[in-house]
Amino acid sequence: MSVQPGRLLEKVSKEALSDPEKFWGEQAKSLVWERQWDSVLEWKPPFARWFSGGLLNASVNCLDRHISTDTKNKAAITWESEAGESRTLTYYQLYRQVNRLANALKDLSVQKGDRVTIYMPMVPELPVAMLACARIGATHSVVFSGFSSQALVDRVNDAKSKVILTADGSMRKGKLIDLKKVVDESLPQAPSVEHVVVFRRAGNPVSMGPRDVWWHEIVERAAPYCKPEMVASSHPLYILYTSGTTGKPKGVMHGTAGYLVHLYSTAKWVFDFQRSDIFFCTADIGWVTGHSYMVYAPLMHGVTEIMYDGAPDYPKPDRYWAVAEKHGATILYTTPTALRMYMKYGDSIPNSFDLSSLRLLGTVGEPINPEVWQWYFTTIGKEACPIIDTWWQTETGGIMLSACTGIDFVPMKPGSATLPVPGVDAAVVDESGRQVAPGTKGYLVVRRPWPGMLLSLWGDDEKYRNTYWSRFEGMYYPGDYALADKDGYLWLLGRADDVLKVAGHRLGTMELESAFVSHRDIAESAVAGRPDATKGESIIAFVVTKEGIEGSDALRKELVDHIRRTVGPIATPDEVYFVGKLPKTRSGKIMRRLLKSIASGDKIGDVTTLEDGAAIDEVKRAYEELKKAVG
Ligand code: ATP
Ligand code: MG
Repeated sequence: MSVQPGRLLEKVSKEALSDPEKFWGEQAKSLVWERQWDSVLEWKPPFARWFSGGLLNASVNCLDRHISTDTKNKAAITWESEAGESRTLTYYQLYRQVNRLANALKDLSVQKGDRVTIYMPMVPELPVAMLACARIGATHSVVFSGFSSQALVDRVNDAKSKVILTADGSMRKGKLIDLKKVVDESLPQAPSVEHVVVFRRAGNPVSMGPRDVWWHEIVERAAPYCKPEMVASSHPLYILYTSGTTGKPKGVMHGTAGYLVHLYSTAKWVFDFQRSDIFFCTADIGWVTGHSYMVYAPLMHGVTEIMYDGAPDYPKPDRYWAVAEKHGATILYTTPTALRMYMKYGDSIPNSFDLSSLRLLGTVGEPINPEVWQWYFTTIGKEACPIIDTWWQTETGGIMLSACTGIDFVPMKPGSATLPVPGVDAAVVDESGRQVAPGTKGYLVVRRPWPGMLLSLWGDDEKYRNTYWSRFEGMYYPGDYALADKDGYLWLLGRADDVLKVAGHRLGTMELESAFVSHRDIAESAVAGRPDATKGESIIAFVVTKEGIEGSDALRKELVDHIRRTVGPIATPDEVYFVGKLPKTRSGKIMRRLLKSIASGDKIGDVTTLEDGAAIDEVKRAYEELKKAVG
């Protein structure tokens, strides 16, 4: 009997939800265990403990499992710098480095349960550092290398890290970032730190103090094999602070077994990993996508991955295409914000590269505007590559909503994150937590625990409960606004906190922003609500035009008409501002709360996670100029 498109997925998902414990128990057999679990799930809301009684080690699952197979001498990581240098590490080489560094950390008296902060550039030694921690049962806390000393201090102190691993520098857009100096500035305020390990990356002269040791020296002295520390399933593998799009970053804590099971399965279903794949994930390892789908998932699967250390647009806005072509990437996993940037420069740049090795295209991090989806599909994928729009969060550990090309063909709808992956029970509910009818907007929730679910927030169970489990009884609340259509496809409409309430209607930021971006002259946009006595809120929009297009009153009027026509008169923006850039977090997401504060004259609040302080000044300036112009 032939299987209809999507039927097989439907069958797998149905079976998974009819007995999730059985389903996830089956999935867990893909990992390498020292001791099998006694129970698949212990659920004492809001705390889930997966695979209790099991013992395992994450580095064994990523490395040791391969070195007795022919994956041993296969490329694990192909690294490419912004200057065009490349370096390849095989699984065996990676294994050896991890073992040595693990022993070196032990020599620095790092023990199971200790926290280690990793503040490193995008070099293969960053995953080496993470896996070395995992090997000895230390909990890693990777801090994005673009953060300044205050952000580092906050994160080191929150985790009370014993050791910091860093480098003598990082190269970004042709400039050296002196990471060691940032660490030195942080140390007086970070009393828990006993040692700083410095990797030589940039050849930058650094001063070494009494606590500092060179990476290459301690690794050279260390023994080549380190017996892996077997840890309990819920042992904290890492802490990762979220990117801070909506407020102060939270220390999300992930365990070992459930997290790895979730990653192994989702990578198989979503990316359909094959032995021949060259996986290019453009995320920085400082964020969860880098942790889950650059380090743990591809390595568990024995895939070759490309690690690119540089900006997408330096020296030219062509880097991802150039790197994909050079290394023959088969899967590209990137962000809508990067795609919008490339789109702004037109098609001739990507068209000048041979991208025919690509077979699958993915996105993550923000909703993808249908216009951008089309461009990705046509210009990059030449209409031959499925697009997987993956919705998930730091807190979920792994992908929750996505097409699963590794299970079945699922018809695509541009702008929809499609369906929950098998075993994930997602729904859209109203204010009172009742599931809404198809086509009705509401709040995305997850109604049952899933293996990749965070253990808690580091040192703050109360905040964990309040943030995720108090809004709707017995359900996880991610904080996103969404709707499910008649086919059950999920459409993410923006953050729940950013929803605009205009004359009794609720509008997700995505609905408006995608409408702006669908205008031929607009590359990017962000909308915010300003309190309005009659309407509740009025819509304020900030837009960035494509290369070569100037903002004007005529274009402004055209945009207002365009929104009225495409979304409806209810969505008529009150004000439209042309800006050169939008304020974004360091992970590239638009910080709408800042725009909202500017538009309503409020205080701006925490901006430590802002990518570029100049953007906020620019927005303020545009806002004030227009205000003056209209009197
Ligand atoms: P913070 O929680 O600190 O404010 P953040 O939410 O940006 O930061 P992440 O965990 O990196 O930190 O991002 C998860 C969020 O990103 C989701 O809650 C959602 O709003 C958005 N997101 C991620 N992927 C998608 C997607 N495919 N479609 C729509 N939104 C997405
Ligand atoms: Mg979040």
